[in-house]
Amino acid sequence: MYDVNEIRKDFPILERRIGERRLIYLDNAATSQKPRQVLDALDEHYEAHNANIHRAVHRLAEEATAAYEASREKVASFLGAPDARGLIFTRGTTEAMNLVAYAWGRRSLREGDEVVLTEAEHHSNLVPWQLAAQATGARLRFIPIREDGTLDMEEAERLVGPQTKMIGCIHVSNVLGTINPVDELAELAHSVGALMLVDGAQSAPHIPLDLAALGCDFFACSGHKMVGPTGIGVLWGRPEMLEEMDPFLGGGEMIREVYPDHSTWNDLPYKFEAGTMSIAQAIGLGAAVDYLNGLGMESIWEHERRLGEYAYEKIREVEGITVYGPEKNRTGLVSFILPEVHPHDLSQILDQEGIAIRSGHHCAQPLMRRLGVTATARASFYLYNTEEEVDMLVGAVERSREFFGAFTS
Ligand code: PLP
Repeated sequence: MYDVNEIRKDFPILERRIGERRLIYLDNAATSQKPRQVLDALDEHYEAHNANIHRAVHRLAEEATAAYEASREKVASFLGAPDARGLIFTRGTTEAMNLVAYAWGRRSLREGDEVVLTEAEHHSNLVPWQLAAQATGARLRFIPIREDGTLDMEEAERLVGPQTKMIGCIHVSNVLGTINPVDELAELAHSVGALMLVDGAQSAPHIPLDLAALGCDFFACSGHKMVGPTGIGVLWGRPEMLEEMDPFLGGGEMIREVYPDHSTWNDLPYKFEAGTMSIAQAIGLGAAVDYLNGLGMESIWEHERRLGEYAYEKIREVEGITVYGPEKNRTGLVSFILPEVHPHDLSQILDQEGIAIRSGHHCAQPLMRRLGVTATARASFYLYNTEEEVDMLVGAVERSREFFGAFTS
């Protein structure tokens, strides 16, 4: 039984008050809050086991290394990753995307090659490919978004051909909430000998995953969006691909032997983990994964799907509102615009009621242009949000509309 009121007790920050009001935190797509279990894991590491990993043989180093490597196994199993050797810790999704674009893209792309992305990519899966394209002469192509916020898969089939070397796609749009058919795109990529990269920043926290079934070659996500600490995320890559790639960053731990004029590389995954890693954060991510597994990803997803549907239906009742994204097959996130109120003003007014939402371009400026707007307001839900909080949001949005409408009518 999923008891959201009990679950909320694990998150100390949810007790906070913003002025007179209880905090209603609806900016989970930007970052999630952290349960006591994750905070305790961080404290315990620093209080009892803190040491640098892999190199030293003293007791603390052995304990820290064991906890760090246990986290790798936990995260790999959480994602359904076929092989934990391909699980590389990064600072987050952005660094993971850059890793692929640099270490694979710069070595493998040639003039005339194409990288196919979508119109809805987060900048972190667009800008690294722009840089790789500039360096190699490759070209970027974009799968368009239909009016309802879903991907135009017919156009995808027309765009992808022998010149395609990589398809990169957000699993879930951070603006529209659309769940994209990344398994179909992976099949399409493989049918022409291309690779498939999935940006899972907005799926891994919410949807039960099985990377083996998704069939992608690379998958990235961020710990801080899935009740874990900031400064830690992962790239999972098919080990055969990672073996062939150049290193991304050079320095300690990624080497096997170093000579004045050349070096050789460590085994996977260490080849891609240069320098002192975010050790405590990786251990915190392991605790986050334990926490999510304890609640059960199926139950979390069921809760969020219901909440998302409820929010989508409720907010659409506000007069004059435009809500973006598809009606079905979406996650717990609503992006919207009121004709009378700029999204920034709206989020400021809501803040006065203790309600935290996001407004802006959500790091997806090409998508904003496609939608014909400069910004939207976005409320994004997570495992601890409630229907009552959705009602408070909708009530506050309605009051803002009435207040600003009185000046503009
Ligand atoms: N991709 C998507 C879809 C996102 O929503 C985000 C963050 O908002 C990112 C990538 C970047 O994540 P990070 O800033 O943790 O690297």
